[in-house]
Amino acid sequence: MDLKRKLEILADAAKYDASCASSGSAKRNSLGGRGMGSTEGMGICHSYAPDGRCISLLKILLTNFCIYDCLYCVNRVSSNTPRARFTVEEVVRLTLDFYARNYIEGLFLSSGIIRDADYTMEQLVLVAKTLRVVHDFRGYIHLKAIADASTDQLAQAGKYADRVSVNLELPQETSLKALAPEKDALTIKQSMATLRAHIDETRAEPKAPKFAPGGQSTQVIVGADDSTDRTIIEKSATLYGSYRLRRVYYSAFSPIPDSSKHLPLKSAPLIREHRLYQADWLMRFYGFASHEIIESSADGMLDLDVDPKLAWALRHREFFPIDINRATREELLRVPGLGTRSVSRIVAARRNRRIREEDLRRLRLPIKRVLPFVKFAGHQSHRALDADALAASLKADAGGSKPGQLALFS
Ligand code: SF4
Repeated sequence: MDLKRKLEILADAAKYDASCASSGSAKRNSLGGRGMGSTEGMGICHSYAPDGRCISLLKILLTNFCIYDCLYCVNRVSSNTPRARFTVEEVVRLTLDFYARNYIEGLFLSSGIIRDADYTMEQLVLVAKTLRVVHDFRGYIHLKAIADASTDQLAQAGKYADRVSVNLELPQETSLKALAPEKDALTIKQSMATLRAHIDETRAEPKAPKFAPGGQSTQVIVGADDSTDRTIIEKSATLYGSYRLRRVYYSAFSPIPDSSKHLPLKSAPLIREHRLYQADWLMRFYGFASHEIIESSADGMLDLDVDPKLAWALRHREFFPIDINRATREELLRVPGLGTRSVSRIVAARRNRRIREEDLRRLRLPIKRVLPFVKFAGHQSHRALDADALAASLKADAGGSKPGQLALFS
């Protein structure tokens, strides 16, 4: 099989993995004439999932031959899909060639399980090692770790890759058992713990060689089993706390050809995935605890009509209005419409003067969304609005208008 055909098959086979953003790595570049590539800059190569999401990087599998039979995966052993396998040298050459042509910013490499977990991990590591050691490649490398691989192989992966990720796959252990019988939740957790131990060790010792400077991440498939958003959010909170993951990626399940009867026939709505990302950001950057985000939902699901921060504010009107000139940063972060940057700008601006409505307008904040929840001289918050009217008007503002072509000159 020629290289182009292999690339078609193995890039297509990799598109279901959403965990390939290149954020958070250490700065490294080839300025000064040594080496090649850098971890900075824009992603150049994009792959598209069937539902239209744009996913960056040269994102390929080493092979889509796999001895496992995960029911949700198009590459499972029982699937009737075209198969291919790159050699280590082929992946190295493709990466260097694409990098040199400015097509990509780095490599995201995963694989089906070839012979066993350790052998597969060894092959993935060999690609990264060859790029780094033989070719002095300084671009971004994300290796997907095979959960059952030995601690030695995981240690090697972190030595050469910017980021290493072990996929959690499904939020509940019972679902993992049912849909991915060869995988084991305990082994996945142990691999995450091993990676965390190495990352912590090198961070505590600044002179030690870097280990996965972009940290570790994972991916959770949303909508392949009956897990609620509450289960997923709580699982993510545990992962961030226990293994200090840099990111949890949420990938809306999309049906695959000849799929098992145990799987849904329809894709999970992308808006569900989007709300989970918003909830995730609230936990990581806005000081929300996981239980606050979804506290009163009877069915354990996030509201698809409004973002989870606005939903929390509408449930907790007793917290508002807050005084925009006196509130702490933590309180300001709870105000719908205020992001981390706008809060920093408000805090900086109020050192010099009392904040008024024109200041909020100057900061280009979504005024209609912010005003009901804040107070300042000359502004009475919209407390008079009854509960339904406030919720309805903000919901309409958040997404009620019909999509349409924006005017170039308006
Ligand atoms: S291990 Fe499971 S998820 Fe990974 S490629 Fe094989 S069948 Fe797919």
